[in-house]
Amino acid sequence: MSLEKWQIKNNICFLTLPNWEEHGARVLFSTRHGGISKGCYSSMNMALHVGDDPEAVLANRQLLMELAGHNLSQMICCQQVHGNRVVAVDSSHAGCGSVRFEDALPDTDGLVTATPGLVLTTFYADCIPVFFYDPVRRVVALSHSGWKGTLNSITAKTLQVMYDRFQCQASDMMIYIGPGISQCCFEVQADLADKVISAFPNDRDIIIMDQNRIKWDLKETIRRCAVNNGVAENRINVSPWCTSCHTECFYSFRKEQGHTGRMAAMITLVNGDDE
Ligand SMILES: [Zn+2]
Repeated sequence: MSLEKWQIKNNICFLTLPNWEEHGARVLFSTRHGGISKGCYSSMNMALHVGDDPEAVLANRQLLMELAGHNLSQMICCQQVHGNRVVAVDSSHAGCGSVRFEDALPDTDGLVTATPGLVLTTFYADCIPVFFYDPVRRVVALSHSGWKGTLNSITAKTLQVMYDRFQCQASDMMIYIGPGISQCCFEVQADLADKVISAFPNDRDIIIMDQNRIKWDLKETIRRCAVNNGVAENRINVSPWCTSCHTECFYSFRKEQGHTGRMAAMITLVNGDDE
């Protein structure tokens, strides 16, 4: 089941989770619509590291932040490397990577915070964004789960960092597995499929034979990782949207052969009295 809601504001199309917002966590996932980038980046490219004009990217970020009621100095970005390092951040990190890629947290694919107002941000073109919210401890997290991050269980790692730093209990956790490449399109080679089966021997059905093609269901792998680590099934939402099937809405690295922009995933703890 998915609780995500499409919204259009100032010509910018994006996804939100109204149910989480009611509980104090603001989630936003951008699409490719509403910005000023040109060519293969058209038009709402949010990433500075993909060869787009940096001024266009900053203008796009500015537009999105205004729309969400935040400003650029609250944004925290990381230099994603398809690893599983997850970092807890606070107000001393505010603005990291918001204007210059070089200032983003290096070698990091997941962010956790208990500080209201910080906008944790990661970037996507097919990989899966995983959003975490513990409404009891009031902690949010966001991790970038491509195939490598999924294979290395970045979801479990994120839950562990939330527990170690803030005593978050998996049983309190709400998780949203966002738009990304889905089992319809995520074809893999036999050697990778073997690695996946070795890593998840009890979940062989996450690898699907489709005619002569081998496909891997990343979102289901992430969902089971969360459940195996104590998150209640009814507190996990999975987006039905496949980025590769829907390049009219989303950037897709695979479908567009690497020449494309990035969507932004964002999560922020909001104070009850903000609303
Ligand atoms: Zn698809």
